[in-house]
Amino acid sequence: MTVRPLIAGNWKMNGLADESSAELKALADLLANADTVACDVLICPPATLIYQMAQISKDSVLQIGGQDCHANVSGAHTGDTSAAMLKDAGATYAIVGHSERRTDHGETNAVVKAKAEAAIAAGLIAIVCVGETLEQRESGETLAVITDQVKNSLPVGATAENTVIAYEPVWAIGTGKTPTPEDVAEVHAHMRKDLAGLMSDADGVRLLYGGSVKGSNAAELMALDNVNGALVGGASLKASDFWPIVETGLK
Ligand code: PEP
Repeated sequence: MTVRPLIAGNWKMNGLADESSAELKALADLLANADTVACDVLICPPATLIYQMAQISKDSVLQIGGQDCHANVSGAHTGDTSAAMLKDAGATYAIVGHSERRTDHGETNAVVKAKAEAAIAAGLIAIVCVGETLEQRESGETLAVITDQVKNSLPVGATAENTVIAYEPVWAIGTGKTPTPEDVAEVHAHMRKDLAGLMSDADGVRLLYGGSVKGSNAAELMALDNVNGALVGGASLKASDFWPIVETGLK
């Protein structure tokens, strides 16, 4: 089955309006000049910039997403953003369960699942993040941890259209370290098998790899079986760094 890749950038808590607008415009221009755009391209800016970035990219194939959403539609949740608000601001995707949220905000699989369900209910595509810690990898628990997270974070009603899974080993995020291609392929094959037991169109679900993806390693990672794109942090902040990664999905 052919699965259209997704190359997604997560800007995390980085960026003010002027510089971010310039980078986003540069990326949109590169996409506009590409011969073919055989993948989806997404930037998830900080919540404060979603509306502005969505305006800048409204005539581009470039899409905009949130980095998190609340599980509720509205209410007394000071400082939080609902999925409907993200959508209203111009987002089409929401990342949920990023390891920084799981760690910094104590988000459990149940919370991540509820957020993914809220994202889908609002008409967004949920990018559900999973990944093992270094300690879990070293003690041989990786596949069991991934199974647990996939199974218990997967939203009810997940389909290949409304849900993306991102495998992001916690120890590879922002560290410059990556698993071997064999290790990535093993986890992705395992996730595909897990999903097959949970949904009918598992073959079409995009499985992203994330964790220190950069221009120099993207092609090798994107060529692996069951890797249908990338979730990129640091190397997505500048269009010039992100573009070589996007290009691996354009071919
Ligand atoms: C991320 O934040 O999802 C990520 C993978 O970060 P980095 O690419 O910087 O490792």
